[in-house]
Amino acid sequence: MEDNPGDARLVEIFLQESDLQNCEVVNKTSLADAIAILESGEEFAVILLDLTLPDSRGFETLERLLAKFPQKNIIVLTGYSDKEMGLRAVQAGAQDFLVKGAFDAEQLSKSLRFSIERTRVLKRLEETQRIARIGNWEYFPETSAFTATDEFYRIFGHDEDRLDGSGNNLEEVDSPIQALKELHEVVAVKGSVKQDMKIKQKGGAYRYVSVQCNLRHDEANNLVYQGIIQDITDRKLADMEMEKSRARYQEIFTQSKDALFISTFTGKFVDFNQATLDVFGYSREELQTMEDTHKLYYPVERKNEFLLKLKAQKAIKDFEISIAHRSGEVRECMMTATIIVTDDFIGYNCILRDVTELRQAERMRKTRDLAQQSAYMKEQFLASISHEMRTPMNAIFGMSNILLQMNLPTEQNGLVQNIKNSSEILLGVVNDILEISAIQNGKVVFENKPFDLAELLNNLINVMQYKAQEKDIFLEVITSPDVPRYISGDKLRLNQVLYNLVGNAIKFTDHGFVKIYIEKLYDIGNSVQLKFKVQDTGIGISEDKIEAIFETFTRILRKDRVYEGTGLGLSICKNLIEQQGGKIGATSTEGKGSVFYFDLIVDMASAEDLDNKEPQEPENELPANAKFKLLLAEDHKMNQLVARKTLERKWKDIEITIADNGQIAIDLLRENIYDIVLMDIQMPIMDGYEATKTIRNTFPPDRSNMIILAMTAHAHVGRDEKYKEYGMDDFVLKPFDPEDLFYKISKYVKHR
Ligand code: ADP
Repeated sequence: MEDNPGDARLVEIFLQESDLQNCEVVNKTSLADAIAILESGEEFAVILLDLTLPDSRGFETLERLLAKFPQKNIIVLTGYSDKEMGLRAVQAGAQDFLVKGAFDAEQLSKSLRFSIERTRVLKRLEETQRIARIGNWEYFPETSAFTATDEFYRIFGHDEDRLDGSGNNLEEVDSPIQALKELHEVVAVKGSVKQDMKIKQKGGAYRYVSVQCNLRHDEANNLVYQGIIQDITDRKLADMEMEKSRARYQEIFTQSKDALFISTFTGKFVDFNQATLDVFGYSREELQTMEDTHKLYYPVERKNEFLLKLKAQKAIKDFEISIAHRSGEVRECMMTATIIVTDDFIGYNCILRDVTELRQAERMRKTRDLAQQSAYMKEQFLASISHEMRTPMNAIFGMSNILLQMNLPTEQNGLVQNIKNSSEILLGVVNDILEISAIQNGKVVFENKPFDLAELLNNLINVMQYKAQEKDIFLEVITSPDVPRYISGDKLRLNQVLYNLVGNAIKFTDHGFVKIYIEKLYDIGNSVQLKFKVQDTGIGISEDKIEAIFETFTRILRKDRVYEGTGLGLSICKNLIEQQGGKIGATSTEGKGSVFYFDLIVDMASAEDLDNKEPQEPENELPANAKFKLLLAEDHKMNQLVARKTLERKWKDIEITIADNGQIAIDLLRENIYDIVLMDIQMPIMDGYEATKTIRNTFPPDRSNMIILAMTAHAHVGRDEKYKEYGMDDFVLKPFDPEDLFYKISKYVKHR
């Protein structure tokens, strides 16, 4: 950049003479022209700048050029008179200066070479800085002059618009100098600072940087802040990520309920978490100083096996081992471990889970399952035993009934009567056992039907009166006037409880009376709470035994006398009352008598609510000379005989055919017409259910709706109305009550 053609020509001549004769020289004679060609992108190794140009003079020329192209390599040409200017130019950013008329070819080439070389070095340095993401800056507070490398600007996100060296835009809000201001203030006091900081880029993003800044004086004794800045964002983010993950694992480590630890093969803990303390029961200090934690494992052979396997397999999973807890308890544990081998450590890490409670729960569950299974088996057993007892009892019962009708001599008649009584008692026991098992298994469903309480009490007295009179005991019912006559509830169950209590009262009383009181306690809407009391003047019960008598099979043994019974009655009562929401209890004075009481909430009802179908009306029975055909399917020979005898005595013209099993029954039914079928349920070859199903499903319409009465020793068949499910019309429970059997046969045959 030279407007004097002579001076320009001289430079060319000097270059020809020097070893730079191959260089190309472009001469621009004004600042504007020079700027234009530089802006076009053309690259120059060096700019030789004459400060005095037609469109710009003096130092300002350099400033204007540097403002636009701060990185350019500029050698200033000054006149002899303004040599001072040259020094200033170098301070402001020029590479060198040459005094016009005072330099020769050698000097020129030297200056150029030096400048070009310097540029190359700077370029390399810049490249290095870019790779290392390091930038540097200088700030001259006196003149507000600021210079910085490209990387400095990139770090601050100012890739495009750099600051001008004049520091004109240094006060802008997003100027990097704002970020450095505080730093400079600290440096002003301390002389130097080295620190990491977070900066905001021009675009708004944040970067982490590490800066180092010193204060120095330049040759002119001016203050200069000189700094290096490195973008450490990537490392910082990685560190933060690392720290986060470390914190996460630390959290898992400390929070884990499993003991987590690292141990040497000699059993010394290197690190362990909180849970380890709990599992072993030792304090942190104790575990830290314990030389061999392996001695806590138990049994020793198991510990050896663990270490051997771990070394051989490098890892081991869910190894069961016990630990001697500090408390002396043996804890059952599961171990999962992996070998660790590094330059300076050999050992293993381990997850130890205390499964003592878990194992205990498992064992308990097994016991419970077993208990449930045995309860189920008990129920099955009771059902089958009672069936097996009922079947022969049917024979005993039935045959004694028949014998009693045969006008036997008085003595024999008495004996047969005793047989019958005994078998009735036996049947009662079987029924009680079945009942208690049903109640305890929650199988009892309570009815809620209207009934006449007065009638129930009347019947009770009628039946019990006979027993009471035998022992000369006065029996009486006292009902408070406010007790409603018609109530709704489970009549049969109430009857059962009262029979039991009154029966006991009579059984355990020899003189005096048995009184039954019924009172009303409360009205609760449409319901009433009634209280029933059975008072006797019998032997009484000692205070300490009163609780126990309500338990199953509890009986108070007397030295002087034996009372028959099973000890089931009261426990059945208690269950029946409590399952209906009532309370039962007793008070007693030994030798004086007892009071048994219970309360029960029942709904009120009226006479119209009653189901008025009168059962077992005698006139409904078939006349003695009725002629009809009956098929009896029954495998038990004795019972065949009992049924036949019983029925033939009742109806002399009855025609009975007997089938030994269900198969024979259906074969017979295919060929013949019968008025009614009595079907035993449990039979060989084909049972009663199967036979009924076959009849209902495969027989022609006129026969498939045959009347079939189940005859069974399975008590639940009637209770659960199971017979209906199997397609039978009704059932008779064995041992059968002849009257019930006659009634049901009459009902269905007449209907037919
Ligand atoms: P069981 O009468 O079949 O033995 P319970 O469960 O009905 O069974 O009665 C249990 C026991 O309670 C009886 O064995 C008897 O010792 C006692 N007990 C029950 N009722 C009375 C009563 N009214 N007076 C005296 N003792 C009674």
